[in-house]
Amino acid sequence: MKIEITPDFAPSKIVCVGRNYADHAAELGNEVPKEPLLFLKAPSSLIFNGDDIVLPPPSDQVEHEGELAIVIEKKCKNLSDSDDVMPYIRGFTCLNDVTARDLQKKDGQFTRAKSFDTFCPMGPHIETDLDWRDIHVVCRVNGEIKQSGKTGQMVFPADYLVRYISKMMTLHPGDVIATGTPSGVSKLSAGDVCEVEIEGIGILKNGVVSNAS
Ligand code: ZN
Repeated sequence: MKIEITPDFAPSKIVCVGRNYADHAAELGNEVPKEPLLFLKAPSSLIFNGDDIVLPPPSDQVEHEGELAIVIEKKCKNLSDSDDVMPYIRGFTCLNDVTARDLQKKDGQFTRAKSFDTFCPMGPHIETDLDWRDIHVVCRVNGEIKQSGKTGQMVFPADYLVRYISKMMTLHPGDVIATGTPSGVSKLSAGDVCEVEIEGIGILKNGVVSNAS
């Protein structure tokens, strides 16, 4: 079933997982982490299908990261390894973890690089019925495939991530977990159209504009 994402969709937090595909970790010269590398995106960075990604002036290297995202259905805290995570998951959607790569490297931590307004496109809807274990995640820029991976390549799969995060912070209904990106990240420029397509969900499509336009 498809659940519409309405404009008032407001997660209390967007939890992201870095370097969760070995090939992406390698392309940025990083090791695969021994436990999930977590960071947050500000909920104010959210936009939806069809909205524009706005390039902020402090960055010269804004990149796309196509990702499978989990939307939480009900409050969860301290899930054990034997708990079934599915009752806690409303569904899955496409997310573009837009990143100012130059600022990420310069700052040494991720907050600014990941949280500019418009840096979290999500949609086009939430899919409740999805076998998420080994599906294609593709990101295209102007129709050209830049990223193509399968969720089966994740270092830490979706159910592991929900349990792991719930042991640290209480997850609330509507909270979003972005599960990491495959290799092939590349720079976005004004005028580009960026699409994240996930098998069984659909296509999240966003234009890119400069801050001046
Ligand atoms: Zn990411």
